[in-house]
Amino acid sequence: MAEITYRLDQRRKVLGEFPGPKSVALTRRRQSVVAAGVASSVPVYVADADGGIITDVDGNSFIDLGSGIAVTSVGASDPAVAGAVKEQVEHFTHTCFMVTPYESYIAVAEELNQLTPGDHEKRTVLFNSGAEAVENAVKVARLATGRDAIVAFDHAYHGRTNLTMALTAKAMPYKTNFGPFAPEIYRVPMSYPYREETEIKGEEAARRAITMMEKQIGADSIAAILIEPIQGEGGFIVPADGFLPTLAAWAKDKGVVFIADEVQSGFCRTGEWFAVQHEGVVPDIITMAKGIAGGLPLSAVTGRAELMDAVHPGGLGGTYGGNPVACVAALAAIGSMREYDLAGRAQNIERIVRGTLESLQEQLGDSGIIGEVRGRGAMLAVELVMPGTAHTTKEPNPDATKAIAAACLAEGVVILTCGTYGNVVRLLPPLVIGDELLQDGLDVLAAAIRDANSAPR
Ligand SMILES: *Cc1c(COP(=O)(O)O)cnc(C)c1O
Repeated sequence: MAEITYRLDQRRKVLGEFPGPKSVALTRRRQSVVAAGVASSVPVYVADADGGIITDVDGNSFIDLGSGIAVTSVGASDPAVAGAVKEQVEHFTHTCFMVTPYESYIAVAEELNQLTPGDHEKRTVLFNSGAEAVENAVKVARLATGRDAIVAFDHAYHGRTNLTMALTAKAMPYKTNFGPFAPEIYRVPMSYPYREETEIKGEEAARRAITMMEKQIGADSIAAILIEPIQGEGGFIVPADGFLPTLAAWAKDKGVVFIADEVQSGFCRTGEWFAVQHEGVVPDIITMAKGIAGGLPLSAVTGRAELMDAVHPGGLGGTYGGNPVACVAALAAIGSMREYDLAGRAQNIERIVRGTLESLQEQLGDSGIIGEVRGRGAMLAVELVMPGTAHTTKEPNPDATKAIAAACLAEGVVILTCGTYGNVVRLLPPLVIGDELLQDGLDVLAAAIRDANSAPR
């Protein structure tokens, strides 16, 4: 396994004034020109990023525990990605695969057909964003089955376009006042082990969803079940063991296409190439984006050949889909994932993170604000609740969550939050982050959680 090297000093550094004057000036400049609807969680502006570090325009260095939302798994300036991109842009930046095609698109399809679970014949089509991949997976499933209904789950997140807003569960900020939404989308209950009324096995939770599908929609009307194997924006919810396999088996039996949305969980993030592999599930179609290309915009839909090839020539595509610069970046990023065994590194990150956060949970005890530490690999989260409710009402604690993220940032650690109730701190470090830097970031997080836990209320 190759040794990971870094260009930037892998150390956290926050200067006295925060945010610094240059970032403050940029915020002011931005306010008069950038649409208010696009919000940034961190009030500093980036100068450089490498490995586990992001530097800003005022000379601060932050530990990156977000990877730009699970994108820069190989780092934000992986030498292999940077080299491939430089080489490509000096030749051609775009010709449009639908007009004059090129080899790198085919090479990405070969890689994805090989890497995704299942040894059946597969086909791949490339796009730009996760939402676009999900939209196209739905197009394929509807055309191939001749059915209309699409089933999505509570807490799901699938994007911000019209169809994917309909598929997404959370109203604010994603859907509120943006309707009307696309029709023929149905929502069924997820398996959310921490928040079940009484403990329920994965298979029973799947049966609950299946009964709803059969009684309220009718299996014969359902084109596809669309599910994140580990939910991302919804709160890093890992369904109970058996939930996914039971749904997949039912779908197979009923001729329903099983689509795994691995836009956030794919590409070594959870300690496997894809999260469905933890439970041996083989999806009919898999959607990918985020970690796929080392930060370049690329997404993919890979699926059974007979489903994908059911679509007439010209039925799928887009001007930029499978852009050649993004394709060579993907090939390089996938190469780096292999070279540095990033799936193995994700497992190592899980050991380190759990070591810190689970012992903190134990120290804070049953009356503490940590409800649950969960996740897989380097997709880990802490769900925060009101003091004393961790095992009773589990009342969400979004205020503590916000305070913790803000405290981390002030100490030089970028941390993201998520969850239907806004009460989940999520950790998505670049998989190339060094152990020491990660531990430093976790110590900052642990101190912030401790402070929030003992804050007067
Ligand atoms: C981020 C995300 C999407 C949407 O991807 P975009 O590239 O932002 O359009 C879809 N599904 C999941 C699971 C995601 O995490």
